[in-house]
Amino acid sequence: MTRAHNFNAGPAALPEEVLKQAGEEMLDFNGTGMSVMELSHRSKEYEEVHNEAKAGIKELLQVPDTHDVLFLQGGASLQFPMIPMNFLPDGEKANYILTGSWSEKALKEAKLIGETKIGASSAEHNHTYIPDIHSMDVDPTDTYVHITSNNTIFGTQWHTLPDWNPPLIADMSSDILSRPVPVDQFSLIYAGAQKNLGPSGVTIVIIEKEMMEKIPNSIPTFLRYDTHADKNSLYHTPPTFGIYMLNHVLNWIRNRGGAEGMQERNNEKASLLYDTIDHSGGFYKGHAEKDSRSNMNITFNLPSEELNKTFLEKAKEAGFVGLNGHRSVGGCRASLYNAVSLESCEALRTFMLDFHKNHG
Ligand SMILES: *Cc1c(COP(=O)(O)O)cnc(C)c1O
Repeated sequence: MTRAHNFNAGPAALPEEVLKQAGEEMLDFNGTGMSVMELSHRSKEYEEVHNEAKAGIKELLQVPDTHDVLFLQGGASLQFPMIPMNFLPDGEKANYILTGSWSEKALKEAKLIGETKIGASSAEHNHTYIPDIHSMDVDPTDTYVHITSNNTIFGTQWHTLPDWNPPLIADMSSDILSRPVPVDQFSLIYAGAQKNLGPSGVTIVIIEKEMMEKIPNSIPTFLRYDTHADKNSLYHTPPTFGIYMLNHVLNWIRNRGGAEGMQERNNEKASLLYDTIDHSGGFYKGHAEKDSRSNMNITFNLPSEELNKTFLEKAKEAGFVGLNGHRSVGGCRASLYNAVSLESCEALRTFMLDFHKNHG
């Protein structure tokens, strides 16, 4: 058996150790004679996993007691409408900072619910950079400010996270737990698990408890954050297998130095590839401006469409998976989430150097 060099943008690589452990536990989880998928979500055995995963997020992201951790479903895409439904009342205005396709999608949903403004946008430069946070139009009267901390499609990332006066809400789907984050500066953080933390199906929400006091009575039960908070995310059947996998991945992260350990590892991986791009004499050209570059998604182009195509074909033949750029940007993209190994990045670097030599 050979494992692929997996650079998928999401769902993405999972740690091999975690997959092996899940395999071993598939027929008999903890002496139950069942897989975790076959347990009742009300059983003691499942509830232990559930609470351990929640405690793991709290510990690894140093979530303060002012905040709660929820496990929801529907991905980041359901958070797009759920946030304004819960927190954008009539007569108020939410501020959306547009740094890529996902922030645009979040704004689109908010516009269906209430009034919005755009505090900054990089759209006219095809989202090649994160605008200067000091020049953004953020006002204390904004109901909340929404940002996307890592732009999966364009390959940019906020390297300074703002500490603004209005409640700050962040889509961290593609960089959660890839680095330490000052959680206390945020009123709400959300992320689908399928990029950095596990399989698809679980959405992690970290929410300031005080925010939940503002939710109007008119919001349907299932779509209210407080419903899930009051019931420890067991209001209805949670995605039990996904949460079990998340728990294993969190233990794997803890054993590798937690958020700081991931940051170090991710910096090293990204530097290998950015270094290759920067020393290619322009053969490889990064999409993102240098000071906005993402450590998670490396977006780049070759000198022609023809060479992009040949590069992607040869890379596929050589065992690299998921290097196609998103259709809205084109070119190539290597996603280096937590579970992508340094060895895979080294192999890709070698492939890029050889390809340049043969086609430069
Ligand atoms: C992948 C992604 C999404 C979409 O997530 P779903 O779980 O598919 O809804 C949203 N935002 C960002 C930043 C993403 O990377």
